[in-house]
Amino acid sequence: MTETIEFQAEARQLLQLMIHSIYSDKDVFLRELISNASDALDKLRMESYRDKDLGVDTSDLHVELRTDSAARTITIADNGIGMSRDDVVTLIGTIAKSGTAETLAKLREAQASGSEEVTAELIGQFGIGFYSSFMVADRVEMTTRRAGTDGGVHWESAGEGTYELSEVADAPQGTSITVHLKAEDAEDNLHDYADPAVVKRIVKRYSDFITWPILLNPTADGAVVEGAEEEDSEQEASNEPINSRKALWARPRSEVSDEEYAEFYRHVSHDWQEPLETMRFTGEGTFEYQALLFLPAHAPMDLYYRDAKRGVQLYVKRVFVMEDCEALVPEYLRFVKGVVDAQDLSLNVSREILQQDRQIQLIRKRLVKRVLQTITALRGEDAEKYDTFWRECGRALKEGLLSDQDNTQAILEASSFASTHDPEKLTTLADYVARMPEGQESIYYVTGESRAAVENSPHIEAFRAKGYEVLLLTDQVDEVWVGMVPSYGAGDDAKPFASIAQGDVDLADDAEKPEGFDDLLSWMTTTLADDVSEVRLSTRLTTSPACLVGEVGGLPPQLEQMMRSMGQEIPVQKRALELNPKHPLVENLKAAHEARPEDAGVAETASLLHDMALLAEGGELKEPSAFVGKLAQRLAATL
Ligand code: ADP
Repeated sequence: MTETIEFQAEARQLLQLMIHSIYSDKDVFLRELISNASDALDKLRMESYRDKDLGVDTSDLHVELRTDSAARTITIADNGIGMSRDDVVTLIGTIAKSGTAETLAKLREAQASGSEEVTAELIGQFGIGFYSSFMVADRVEMTTRRAGTDGGVHWESAGEGTYELSEVADAPQGTSITVHLKAEDAEDNLHDYADPAVVKRIVKRYSDFITWPILLNPTADGAVVEGAEEEDSEQEASNEPINSRKALWARPRSEVSDEEYAEFYRHVSHDWQEPLETMRFTGEGTFEYQALLFLPAHAPMDLYYRDAKRGVQLYVKRVFVMEDCEALVPEYLRFVKGVVDAQDLSLNVSREILQQDRQIQLIRKRLVKRVLQTITALRGEDAEKYDTFWRECGRALKEGLLSDQDNTQAILEASSFASTHDPEKLTTLADYVARMPEGQESIYYVTGESRAAVENSPHIEAFRAKGYEVLLLTDQVDEVWVGMVPSYGAGDDAKPFASIAQGDVDLADDAEKPEGFDDLLSWMTTTLADDVSEVRLSTRLTTSPACLVGEVGGLPPQLEQMMRSMGQEIPVQKRALELNPKHPLVENLKAAHEARPEDAGVAETASLLHDMALLAEGGELKEPSAFVGKLAQRLAATL
């Protein structure tokens, strides 16, 4: 019986984009299908380790490519893990990746505007695997049977909204995908995927490092067809693998080209673009291991989603053991992709055991250090690359300031910050400290929602006037780490972080201390007792009349608001109201209070002053309508 099933909406859209793709490098479909086949073989081997009753012969695992120039097809077959009917429906019929909807929307826009570059880049971010076959096919067939089960399934689609599913009684175990090639590609000798010579070239270029044998048109008896190379490429067939199968990380560095690293990166990351940076290191002695890691050139699609994938691939002595090995990589480095090959682990090690394993912990420590060093070094070696990295993944890296106490200073060193020093460029903390003038003891910062909002905050005025640089921290994670990381630097050179919106700062010279405000301040402290902890004079203001200042170490107001909106009960935190003694409004208020201490109007002005300070920092008034009423009255009186 044949069922016709609709693709999920996102999958349908993505397929349409693939079919009408202007992605120029269509060869990559083969890389994607071989990559999937290789993963399927890895999975089968792992499963057969864990499940001794699986009853599958794993002695001859391989990928087979069969071309048929008369029928104009290429078939990619593996005898790997295979898929059940339900697997096919969920894995092939739907896309369930975080960030899909957003990326799809961007893709449609790029396609509509005809921007090939952007389209290619976005498709690359998706890492579309199986669907890429529709770039070259007008129809795709797949037969698959899950290892350890009996019945197989046949899947078929022209990529136009629906696919057909039927049962197959005698399907071989594993997956076989037959791509019916579009007629137009046949005209082009270079891209005729039914031509074995073309296929061989592509495999050499993209999939050489795949550790499983890739056979091209193997013969039943395993004989090498004589003279195939020179004479008729259509007959090219032998049972020798066409890939060299060498693990890149086991080859001498000097022998591996950037191209090869890039292809390997694409295989492990499902990204279609080149990596930003490649890292290789080894551990020797008791715990021998090799690591080949990559930094991406753009944030993985799911980087800022809760269910983001993390971890590198774990191999044991060249044998794939585990995908996304979390034990090797802390969450804040979840953008790092690659492989760790350890020598002394058991092949059927579980994720739980890995978390406790001493060798794994040591490798992880080393990996973290190495990644942080690489990022820091990148800034000096290739500022443009560093900027790309920071724009794409910097926010994730800063999460490490909350969770990785051992590496706090290294993370700070690798990070960059917006500051009042330069409106265009970010600064390092080392550069900030080097610029600190005589007398400045702390690294000043302000947190808030956007650069524009914090740059104009009243708190910043006197710091600017005094030539003190202020870091402008506008990522959500900034609010949190500044509360946890006390200082930058080590020993006597450590410089504390200080919020310009918290605590009592003294930026005035002694000669400037204004006098005669005591009465006003104590009266206002009483009058505004419901809203503020204290009213005092400020040295941080130059043009604004007043601002609100929190306690050192207190919760910043934005964070307080965020936590409330998430339903947490937080006691009201009163802050101090600081007045600018040089502002005419404050001067006149002082005079008015001295002349008419009982006047209700003066008290109203005092409360307006508080509300204005709240508005200036982007805060919300408790009673906006009362504020407007009072203000309107005052304005009317001036006209
Ligand atoms: P990706 O490979 O990026 O996950 P694909 O669309 O290529 O995305 O494949 C989706 C899923 O379908 C894979 O994750 C895998 O579980 C399954 N799959 C694809 N090809 C095969 C195959 N040859 N054998 C077994 N499972 C496969």
